[in-house]
Amino acid sequence: MVIPVNEPLLGSDELALVQECVTSGWVSSAGRFLEEFEQGFAAYCGRRFGVAMNTGTSALIAALRALDLPPGSEVLLPTFTIISCALACLESQLVPVFADADAETWCLDVSQVERKLTARTRAIMPVHIYGHPAEMDRILEIASRHELAVVEDFAEAIGSTYHGRRCGSFGDVSCTSFYANKTITTGEGGMCVTDSEELASRLRSLRNLCFLPGQRFVHRELGFNFRMTNIQAAIGLAQLGRINQHVARKIEIGRSYSRRLQFLEQRGLIRLCAVRPWVQSTYWMFGLVLEEKLDVEASTVLDALAERGIEARPFFFPLHLQPALRALPWYREERLPVAQRLAQRGLYLPSGLTLAEKDIEQVVAILEETLGSFR
Ligand SMILES: *Cc1c(COP(=O)(O)O)cnc(C)c1O
Repeated sequence: MVIPVNEPLLGSDELALVQECVTSGWVSSAGRFLEEFEQGFAAYCGRRFGVAMNTGTSALIAALRALDLPPGSEVLLPTFTIISCALACLESQLVPVFADADAETWCLDVSQVERKLTARTRAIMPVHIYGHPAEMDRILEIASRHELAVVEDFAEAIGSTYHGRRCGSFGDVSCTSFYANKTITTGEGGMCVTDSEELASRLRSLRNLCFLPGQRFVHRELGFNFRMTNIQAAIGLAQLGRINQHVARKIEIGRSYSRRLQFLEQRGLIRLCAVRPWVQSTYWMFGLVLEEKLDVEASTVLDALAERGIEARPFFFPLHLQPALRALPWYREERLPVAQRLAQRGLYLPSGLTLAEKDIEQVVAILEETLGSFR
């Protein structure tokens, strides 16, 4: 039997709403579930507007485009994140500038941010990694002092809070994903949330090919087809109805792993994410870093776990080392040692909503045995 790294938690509510899409014929991007899902999810994040997208990557692309920054402007973002963040910059001819990760929380190391600002920096993109919120007070303070736009990526932190405030509430535009492994899912999907009516309306236009209102098929600007379907929104709406349970279960799983893995941390074999006292992490994926005592890289441990039926995954490969970015004219070789070490020695364990307590127990037991063999 394999314990999967993730499984979406879907139920009869999803089925009923999807069935309504099919029987009513509202299967494209028009239909009542879209608006309900947008408004409901935006409200959950404490925002005025939600603009649903076909993926989280699309949400990031649209968000950066909506800001209308001059081409060549720099965007500061963590190197320890998904390629989508860099991709979104490139789509609008913006230059991503990478900062290293914090060794304890794995989020953007804020102390690096100011050193990397230049006269061309126009935006900052904090990413909450594996459910732990980035250091938002300091990021917002720097952004306000240097007049930078903030695009928040909270794909991994739906429901996480920072000083009691929900992730998704911090950016000029905040972007999330509803991919199947996210805290609520629409299969594929994403959303931008914002308090700005102007940005919301730009995002809606960009999502739908920038049709001119009143002059259909005339385009003053090139947009995208990033529309979410009513079917996706139906699933999302059903998931939104259970979001508090999903978030609570994520937190339970995270706490259970933390408790059960403490002894391996105390023995100096692994390091867990340091959860700051002022945040509530939702432990989107439960990560750990192999300590130097273990003479092994994450990939070897992952293979050994897979052999025993545990589906775990490596950490992000840092953006500043991505082969696909090296060929670009602005690319500059640099060493960001924390992210590089995380990539070599970090992995995350099965963390899906369907995980039972006995699965967690089994994962921990097999992990202990596996690590024991590498001492
Ligand atoms: C999942 C994710 C995205 C976007 O994912 P899509 O697969 O395009 O929906 C963006 N940023 C982060 C940090 C993510 O984890």
